[in-house]
Amino acid sequence: MTSPIDKAIEQLPEEHREFLQQIRRFVRDDCSPRDEDMEKTGHPPDDLLGKMRELGLFGLTLPEEYGGLALDLKMFSFVLRELAWTNPVVRTYMNINNGLGSSGIKNYGTDEQKEKYLTKLAAGEWIASFCLTEPGAGSDAANISTRAEKTDEGWVIDGTKHYITNAPFANVFTVIAVTDPEKGSRGGITAFVVDRETPGLEVAPVQATMGGVAQHQSEVIFEGCKIPANAQLGPEGQGFRVAMQTLDEGRVSLSASAIGIAERAVEAGRQYAMTRRAFGKRIGDFQGIQWMLADSAVEIYAASTMLLDACDRHARGDDISREASMLKLFASEKACDIADRMIQLHGGYGYTIEGGVERLYRYLRMFRIVEGTSEIQRMKIAKAMLRE
Ligand SMILES: Cc1cc2nc3c(=O)[nH]c(=O)nc-3n(C[C@H](O)[C@H](O)[C@H](O)COP(=O)(O)OP(=O)(O)OC[C@H]3O[C@@H](n4cnc5c(N)ncnc54)[C@H](O)[C@@H]3O)c2cc1C
Repeated sequence: MTSPIDKAIEQLPEEHREFLQQIRRFVRDDCSPRDEDMEKTGHPPDDLLGKMRELGLFGLTLPEEYGGLALDLKMFSFVLRELAWTNPVVRTYMNINNGLGSSGIKNYGTDEQKEKYLTKLAAGEWIASFCLTEPGAGSDAANISTRAEKTDEGWVIDGTKHYITNAPFANVFTVIAVTDPEKGSRGGITAFVVDRETPGLEVAPVQATMGGVAQHQSEVIFEGCKIPANAQLGPEGQGFRVAMQTLDEGRVSLSASAIGIAERAVEAGRQYAMTRRAFGKRIGDFQGIQWMLADSAVEIYAASTMLLDACDRHARGDDISREASMLKLFASEKACDIADRMIQLHGGYGYTIEGGVERLYRYLRMFRIVEGTSEIQRMKIAKAMLRE
C-alpha cells in the first residue's frame, strides 16, 4: 500500500520531489553505512556534516534572505521522515536549528538579530538550543524561576535550565526567563537570545539518557549572566507566547520523525516475517504475527493522515494548537507501540543490539515526553473541548 505521505509527495512540484530524492540518497547511501560509527561517537563525522550543510539541512525552514530554503511545515516534515532512516544524531544536529532554536528569532527577532543569528544557523556554522525546562518546572512551564532583571545596560540572568538538547555544542541559546514575577506567564515572562561565550553562562556535563550517546542534553546554568538590551527577543512580557508558538510547530515535525521511525521498524519486521522460520513455516504465516503488522500499518496510516491534515491547516494560516497536540499524542504513542511490537516480532533478535530495533524503541520513547508529555497533550485537548 502506498503511504498517504508518499501520495502527497507525488503531488508536489518537481523541484520539491527532486529535493526529497536527494535527501533519500544522502540518508541511505552516505549516512546509513556510517550508522554504527555515529552510534559510538554520538556525532556525524565531518564529511557528513559538510554534506548536511551543502544540502541546506540546517536552514530548511529559515528565510531565503538569510540563506535558508524557506520550506513549509509539510516539506520540513517530509525531510524529517526521510532522516528517520539513519542514526538519530543526524536529526538531532539539524532539527533545533530549524525549529525550537530559531523560530523565536525568525518570528520575533529584530532585523539585526535575524542577520546575526539566522545566517549562521542556516549555514550550519552555528548550532542553536532552546532553554525552557528547569529542574523545578517542566510540564508546568509557566512556573519557571530563572530570573532576568533589568539593568541600565540590559539584563542579568540567574537560574538553571536542564535537559537542553544540543547544549554541549550549541553556540546560541533562546532563553525563557521571568522578568516580572507578579505577572508570571500573563505578561511576566520574556524571551532572550544569548551567545554561548557570554560570561556567566555555563554548560554542565551531558545528562545521559536511554537514547544513548546520540542524545546530547545538558544543564545550562546562568549566574549573573549579563546580556545587552538588544538580546531581548520579542516584546517584554511575551516570552511565554514565543515559547508556546514555537512548540506547536515542533509537535508536528516531531510527529513526522516518529512516523518515519515507525515505518522503518515495520519494514524491518516485515522483512523478518518473510524470512524467519518456526514450526516449518515463515513466521509471517502465523496470524499472531500478521496482526502485529496489520495493526502497525493502520496506526501509521492514521498518523500520516493526521500529519497531512495538520500541515494543510498550518499552510492555510489556521491555529493548529489542538491538532498539533492530537497528532503528537497519537503519533508518539503509536510509534512506541509499533517499535515495541516489532521487537516482539523479532523474538530474541529484537532484544539484541545487533538487531537494531531496540535502538529505534529507545529513541522513540523520548517522543512521548519532549515538547509536552502525552498527559499534557491530553490536558490541552480536553481544555480546548471544554472551552467550546
Ligand atoms: C531527551 C530530552 C530532550 C529535551 N530537550 C529539551 C530542550 O531542548 N529544551 C527544553 O526546554 N526542554 C527539553 N526537554 C524537557 C522536556 O520538555 C520535559 O522533560 C517535559 O516537558 C516534561 O517535563 P518534566 O521532565 O519536568 O516532567 P514533569 O513535569 O515533572 O512531569 C512528571 C510526570 O507528571 C505528569 N504531569 C505533570 N503535570 C500533569 C498534569 N497536569 N496532568 C497529568 N499529568 C501531569 C507528566 O506528564 C509526567 O508524566 C527535554 C527532555 C528530554 C527527556
